[in-house]
Amino acid sequence: MLGLIMTDTHYIGGSAVAGTSGRQQDVYNPATGAVIGSVPLASIDEVNQAVASAKAALAGWAATPPAKRAQVMFNFRDLLKSHHTEIATAISLQHGKTLDDAKGEVARGMEVVEFACGIPHLLKGDYSAQVAGNVDSYSQRQPVGVVAGITPFNFPAMVPMWMFPMALACGNTFILKPSERDPAAPLLLARLLTEAGLPDGCLNVVNGDKEAVDTLLDHPDVGAISFVGSTAIGKYIYGRGCNNGKRVQALCGAKNHMVIMPDADMDQAVDAAMGAAYGSAGERCMAISAVLAVGDDTADRFVAQLAPKVRALKIGQYDEPGVEMGPVITRESQKRVEDYISQGEADGAEVVVDGRGLSLQGYEDGYFVGGTLIDRVTPDMSVYRDEIFGPVLSVLRPKTYEDARQLVIDHEYGNGTAIFTRDGDAARDFAANVNIGMVGVNVPIPVPVAYHSFGGWKASMFGDHAVHGMEGVRFYTKLKTVTARWPSGIKEGAVFNFHSGS
Ligand code: NAD
Repeated sequence: MLGLIMTDTHYIGGSAVAGTSGRQQDVYNPATGAVIGSVPLASIDEVNQAVASAKAALAGWAATPPAKRAQVMFNFRDLLKSHHTEIATAISLQHGKTLDDAKGEVARGMEVVEFACGIPHLLKGDYSAQVAGNVDSYSQRQPVGVVAGITPFNFPAMVPMWMFPMALACGNTFILKPSERDPAAPLLLARLLTEAGLPDGCLNVVNGDKEAVDTLLDHPDVGAISFVGSTAIGKYIYGRGCNNGKRVQALCGAKNHMVIMPDADMDQAVDAAMGAAYGSAGERCMAISAVLAVGDDTADRFVAQLAPKVRALKIGQYDEPGVEMGPVITRESQKRVEDYISQGEADGAEVVVDGRGLSLQGYEDGYFVGGTLIDRVTPDMSVYRDEIFGPVLSVLRPKTYEDARQLVIDHEYGNGTAIFTRDGDAARDFAANVNIGMVGVNVPIPVPVAYHSFGGWKASMFGDHAVHGMEGVRFYTKLKTVTARWPSGIKEGAVFNFHSGS
């Protein structure tokens, strides 16, 4: 055991470091509304210290053979396994998701660590002998340098692990600015990396808010920024980071559609929608928040089957037996989600299952919203247009497959989508033609495995490279191509023209 769950420090140069800015923020258990800790909000000076620590560690780590860097990842993976429940408990306590879901989150992060263990193979370059007489050419991928990650509250372990295992394995040093709402898990991960043998300074965690983020965005020694969070903040980070000449990948908000065709297996589709809409209280960037049931008959059957299941959702604190869904993250989120439901109702949609005003015995001050199902939603309504980030599922009733596909194409967001059908032709057309980054065929949450890459399109991502898989290697490395000539290939005298090919 690592001991008490700590949230009241930064982690710089291989040690927990107390905050000195004099600014801090409360951390809550969202199931009870109780303050369970506080997190320091870093000053510019503290962020500068973290960057200096990462810069000092860079030369040694970048020069460490990839196979040795991989050894640290193998050790880290073993430690993640032995501390799996502890990390998951830290997540659940501050985020509110069920313990099983938090364990799943850690497991998905671990898969990226496993992928990063293969870094010697992943960094192999291309080699071409004899590109001209006695001239050879080869490419290599070199680390960007000091890089930073800014992460959201909803996956406090998995999203940082989309980033730092890849960045470190590629030879970069890293500064993580996790969400200030649930900072315990990232601090645990940093301590485990030190135990795994990562040299001090290679991974630093600075807790903080806009001040810390802006300092990283403007710091001349930070070469790349990975961001995951809301679209408004992602756009800002992408703009400011790029303006400062940095590489930036910003993965942002979402509104994920599930198309249900008349021929779909309705039992499967209903089960899939339950987990995808209400798991983690809908606070997933890949949550399904809009179902497009093709034709009224399909929609009637779907709503009739889903509604009793939504009413029967077992809601509670993360550690209660059989609990399926926890609270949302803050009092403000609870109010925001309830306001969206009210707006949908005022706009003329039919609230079939209403999660507003839920009060759980023993948890009266928790931030719970009951599972909510809204039927007869139309594209102009805010419940459809906006990312609600709560346990609210909207049902729309397009008349044809083409109408459903067009709704997906026209929506501002493009993270994930799914189609449920037995018709291979429709599924193939859908996968080929929607402008969405991740597509599921009879799979409601098509999160790519670690050796593929995760990333959306449209307002769900700004930047060129998605995270993990080969895209992660490309983002965290710079390509260098060497052209080498040996004495027998050197001609007498200077050459002023490009090779003419003849
Ligand atoms: P958020 O945008 O509020 O915060 C994300 C990070 O940005 C945090 O570290 C926060 O401290 C920082 N931040 C917040 N305001 C800032 C400001 N004004 N200036 C600089 N930095 C600021 O997001 P959140 O509420 O923590 O997370 C939920 C959002 O994240 C949702 O929109 C969700 O869809 C998105 N998300 C996207 C993905 C994806 O892969 N596309 C994955 C997970 C979450």
